Amino acid sequence: MRGLATADELEPDLEGASPQEILAHLAERFHPRLYVACSFQKEASVIMDMLLKIEPEARFFTLDTGLLFPETYATWRQVEERYGVKVEVYQGMTLARQAEEHGGELWNQDPDACCGIRKVEPLREALSQVDAWVSGLRRDQSPSRRRTPKFHWDDKHELWKANPLADWSEKDVWNYIAEHDVPYNELHDRGYASVGCTHCTLPGSGRAGRWAGTDKIECGLHA
Ligand code: SF4
Repeated sequence: MRGLATADELEPDLEGASPQEILAHLAERFHPRLYVACSFQKEASVIMDMLLKIEPEARFFTLDTGLLFPETYATWRQVEERYGVKVEVYQGMTLARQAEEHGGELWNQDPDACCGIRKVEPLREALSQVDAWVSGLRRDQSPSRRRTPKFHWDDKHELWKANPLADWSEKDVWNYIAEHDVPYNELHDRGYASVGCTHCTLPGSGRAGRWAGTDKIECGLHA
């Protein structure tokens, strides 16, 4: 059992709460054992902007697959500079070792295995450090995310998880970015509604551009 966070604790109903109210609850209850997952997509930018106004010492992490777009690495640098934070990094095995053990292009041969090595395992390591985490999932991103709760016990990783933007629309996110002058990944302006690794992301609405042309819809981080 880690810290004081267990599934037996009272689970407050945060379904009617605003993103800021949810983040304030999390900061008060869990910080510094609270981690925000940072994909450097627009939702991550919004959550970073909101949370740092509530808890200036908030902690952020990213899963650097080594296969992110240059624009994503640029957004990473931009938000660190703008907010004066250091995003903590978790990585799977090196690409060279992956190629040695599994062949040159595992993302084509077995994308589930590739995501397992480059995302799922590093996520497990990151979450082992804390009692609660925050993601930018939204219900209207895909049918598989339609039932995303705002706050719940994450059985898979055995800690609390919040999705404060779960009921926000794409428009809500863009309105917040415009109102607060939040830095965001410029790939969104070029038709990429969702941004992942270079080999597995095309322009598209929702999550249509992720693993396009295959049955794969999630990387395994959230489901
Ligand atoms: S998104 Fe593609 S390249 Fe990135 S970890 Fe998953 S399969 Fe590998």
